[in-house]
Amino acid sequence: MKHTAVNAPAKINLVLEIVRRRPDGYHDIRTVMHTLELSDTLLFTPRQEGVLVSCDTPGVPANADNLAARAAELFREAYGLKSGVHIHIQKRIPVAAGLGGGSSDAAATLMGLCRFWNIPVNYRRLHALARQLGSDVPFLLKGGCALGTGKGDRLFPWPAVPGLWMLVINPGFAVPTPLVYKNLKLPLTSKKNYINLLRPAILKKNPEKIGQYLYNQLETVTLKMHPEVGRIKEVLLAHGATAALMSGSGPTVFGIVPSPEAGQQMLRKLSGRYPFVCLTRTIGQSIRKNLR
Ligand code: ATP
Repeated sequence: MKHTAVNAPAKINLVLEIVRRRPDGYHDIRTVMHTLELSDTLLFTPRQEGVLVSCDTPGVPANADNLAARAAELFREAYGLKSGVHIHIQKRIPVAAGLGGGSSDAAATLMGLCRFWNIPVNYRRLHALARQLGSDVPFLLKGGCALGTGKGDRLFPWPAVPGLWMLVINPGFAVPTPLVYKNLKLPLTSKKNYINLLRPAILKKNPEKIGQYLYNQLETVTLKMHPEVGRIKEVLLAHGATAALMSGSGPTVFGIVPSPEAGQQMLRKLSGRYPFVCLTRTIGQSIRKNLR
């Protein structure tokens, strides 16, 4: 057992399509996700017994409801472990923002505890635990880029496109995912197949083409509830982003920027205007590499 630190990267959805409402109330989706350098950091330290989670960020539960605590309890149960752990979360990813922060903390906990308790990483086993914690958790175990079907947890790895610069803006209010799905009205007509269009752009690592085929079916729902999200998209495009899209159920918007220099300029101009503005870039598979 040793002190361990793990990064938990944010994710964005490059495409998010809703396929159907399931009898269990969830939705089947088709989504292409990518991880970002923007990350939380989780610090694991030994503790006599039980799981303790601490986090100083408002809106993040510092108790058993925290997804990292739930992941740790599940992990201890699955591996029959008695010893305890204290997990401190340094939060950088905005909360309830569509960036998968809680899910990534859970995924990083599963990976981090393998290192912490010296248990070989059995990806299939961790994947099964991850599915019990939430639809985005399996993807965030490895990160990079993947197509997710079903609830988003049936994964088909795609080659990552690391180094795509993004300006990420969060307007500072939370959007609960269940509310967005509740307000979603599924159209009867079929739409463009954005996933098939995006695939060659990803394979060619072509930022312009990737930008052309960004699509999020939840965007109109959240925009109706919060027109501010639409204005952020316009602001990003007006300041030089080549494309912009809301991530997940929102309200965070990301804009692809043509260069880190252009991104820095946009960052300087927009920083004071919103509670959270961050220049970051896409990364490949990461969590295991980030173990220290
Ligand atoms: P989702 O689409 O799953 O809601 P999200 O990225 O929009 O993901 P999260 O940042 O994961 O949102 O937070 C959703 C809710 O989960 C928060 O309102 C918070 O109360 C709860 N939560 C539990 N654990 C965590 C955590 N470790 N970090 C952030 N939020 C957490």
